[in-house]
Amino acid sequence: MPFAALLLSVLLSSGTGTAESPLMPAQSSPSKTFAPKFDQKRMRDFVAHLSAFPTRNTNTPELIEAAKWVAERFKEIPGLEVELMAYTIQEGRRIPKTKEVVQVVATLKGQSNRTYLMGGHLDSYNLQGDPMTAKAPGANDDLSGVVATLEVARNLAAAKPAEGYKNTLVFVAFTGEEQGLFGATALAKRYKTGTASLEGVFNNDTIGSSSASDGRTDRKRVRLYSEDTDHPKSRELARFIEWTTRKKVAGISIWPMFRRDRFGRGGDHTPFHREGFAAVRFIETLEDFTRQHTDRDLIEAMDFGYLANVAKLNALALHTVANSDEAPTELKYDLKQSYDTTITWKSKPGVKYVVYYRATSSPVWEGALPAGETGKFTAKNLNKDDYTFAVGAEGGVPVPVEPGV
Ligand SMILES: [Zn+2]
Repeated sequence: MPFAALLLSVLLSSGTGTAESPLMPAQSSPSKTFAPKFDQKRMRDFVAHLSAFPTRNTNTPELIEAAKWVAERFKEIPGLEVELMAYTIQEGRRIPKTKEVVQVVATLKGQSNRTYLMGGHLDSYNLQGDPMTAKAPGANDDLSGVVATLEVARNLAAAKPAEGYKNTLVFVAFTGEEQGLFGATALAKRYKTGTASLEGVFNNDTIGSSSASDGRTDRKRVRLYSEDTDHPKSRELARFIEWTTRKKVAGISIWPMFRRDRFGRGGDHTPFHREGFAAVRFIETLEDFTRQHTDRDLIEAMDFGYLANVAKLNALALHTVANSDEAPTELKYDLKQSYDTTITWKSKPGVKYVVYYRATSSPVWEGALPAGETGKFTAKNLNKDDYTFAVGAEGGVPVPVEPGV
């Protein structure tokens, strides 16, 4: 064999990837050509229309009317299948009478039934007056999340490859949130018993204002809640969203919160968590507590530049996972003592893998090493004694390698 051919053959047949430096630059996202655009005027018009309803309390006829109007907006996006999903709210604390209600579920079918879901809640609530009649514009809480979901859907549908994304994307305008997360609960149960594999839920609730009631502002961060320590799937989803969007949107970054939600508060990610799915919540950094659930939750207090940035973070992360293959299984460390770390996993033909690492004391990923089409990788000069590792299909949420000693 001539030398050049021999060399090529050695390079091609090495089979396992290696990486030289622990400080290799991040290779986080395959979505280099995806540049989502957010039309702030269109977003503002959407919020203006719906916040002018006297209320969107889930018990009222206005809620049904609002849901139908939102369904029409989703139907305007080519490629989406739009459903008004009916479910029943039972008489209880904030429900005077058992009633069938609806929420909006829009699906962008992919090549597989692995599914990623983004949503916000359409219903609103006034805690100060008669909840059935008192004005509840619910502009920021949570038309901000609904309009972000609609506009992310528009961007993802427009960027869809001819053969479709590898995974299915679902966009939801939840209802029944203010009564006790009932719409999300109904949908989570449907996924629990259905055939689709729900891989991740991006809940966006109250993401459209950058100011606190005391006048402070923070336009540079958005909080991402991801459960308490007992639910690693949600945590890994949050860590990956942070990683894959890091430094990708000028002027904003994700501030990961390793908690389910704020004290005494909840959101539509939680019913999905309860059913065992990975689910996280985006929320602005500084809430204006004086406006929430009052007639003062108005469009005037919103910051559409900030909202568009939060939507962009969602769009980039969703686009990345939309194109990802199935996560690897059977991940193991080679346990022998070494300055390097060797990991093996069960790979699938044609799938490229990426190895992620962080110091054991670091909450977020510090680097990613492309491993290629292989089931084995050695990270040079990264000692498993000092670092935590995970492996993912390219663009997919990585799976942590458990010590397994
Ligand atoms: Zn809310």
